[in-house]
Amino acid sequence: MNSYFGLRKTLPYETHFNSNNMLNIKEYNNSIILDLFDIFAYVFYADLNETKDEHSGLVVEIEISVENINTFLGKEYKFEELIHFAVGEEKWKIKFVKSEKEKKIVSNNPDTNTYIFNSISLLSAGLDSLSGACKEIGRNNKTLFVTYRNRAEGTKTGNNFSYLSEISNNKVIKHVEIHKDSEIPVNRYTQRTRSLLFLACALLYADYYGVKEIKIYENGIMSQNPSFDERRGVTKTTHPKTLYMFNEILHSVDVDIKAVNPYQFYTKGQVINEIPAEYRIIIKQTRTCSKSAGITHFAGLKEDKRNCGVCIACTLRKIGIKYFDLDDYDANYYFDDIQIANASSKRYMLHQEKSLKEYYMRFNKEIKSGRIFIYLEGIEEKYYSSTEYLHCLKEMLNQFSLELEKYYE
Ligand SMILES: [Zn+2]
Repeated sequence: MNSYFGLRKTLPYETHFNSNNMLNIKEYNNSIILDLFDIFAYVFYADLNETKDEHSGLVVEIEISVENINTFLGKEYKFEELIHFAVGEEKWKIKFVKSEKEKKIVSNNPDTNTYIFNSISLLSAGLDSLSGACKEIGRNNKTLFVTYRNRAEGTKTGNNFSYLSEISNNKVIKHVEIHKDSEIPVNRYTQRTRSLLFLACALLYADYYGVKEIKIYENGIMSQNPSFDERRGVTKTTHPKTLYMFNEILHSVDVDIKAVNPYQFYTKGQVINEIPAEYRIIIKQTRTCSKSAGITHFAGLKEDKRNCGVCIACTLRKIGIKYFDLDDYDANYYFDDIQIANASSKRYMLHQEKSLKEYYMRFNKEIKSGRIFIYLEGIEEKYYSSTEYLHCLKEMLNQFSLELEKYYE
């Protein structure tokens, strides 16, 4: 299956990069970077377009056009292992084919060298990335914020950036948006491979402006995302091992750029609590929810109620908010909306809330007993930025235990 190229006569990079997001880059021709972008875009759109159920255990096969065929041949397994680990479910089979054209981007933008960046950070509609953006601003970094946006997020990410600019007195350096290709039909609402595409979006800028790190700010609890049920696979989209495997791929094709997560040892609560007081009014605008309005029972999710309040991501957010007494800053949740006329949806959500309570109670039990490390994957030093990683993980988990106890007391 080759869902992207089958539906589009262009390659992914051609539909995503244009004069609107190329800043002062007049011509860009590092075809290794464009190949990498295309690979992760193919994977992401194939995942959305895939009609099979994600728990089917089948192998997803995709064919990807790369210009540097000799560079990528023999490295298929690196991508397959990364994607398999990140999605936590079925296996992927990748076949590289030689692109018929040379990859390069020519924009109408003048190459005037106006921009100097010393930091690149992903900016999503979420809370963790808002908190990270505040860190970037607080350190006076010359940061380029990169956003990958789909329609479901509406204009809010843009607004987050506008709020950030306004509150920081325009200290925020620059923001680029790469838009989701709406021509590719979505048969499955999933975010499983989105982080990888998001990182791939930033590669071009990191390469062009000579920035060696791409920061993805995500709390360590969500990154670890342990499962206590062997039958159920879970996504590991920002797990330290996922970032490590991503970085290994870059290294293997001589790209000297790394993805890093400065919040790998922070709980969601600590991440939210890092947001300085003057920026906390933006918390209401952020979107944490993993549900989409395209999913039955969540059809009512919209701009003003964009967090369901019962999914794993929303629950983690509420746990963190409560521990640090930040309720006054939080968003209204769809679940709390008494206007939900659809009784079966309400029942579904109540059930979801109950099973997440069981999940988090179990999580806490395993932290307290010290058995939690049995359930964490990829506990190896090479995946972490610190040799003290075990100690740091323990500290984070103990903090999370306190947060859980306050929430479910
Ligand atoms: Zn939710």
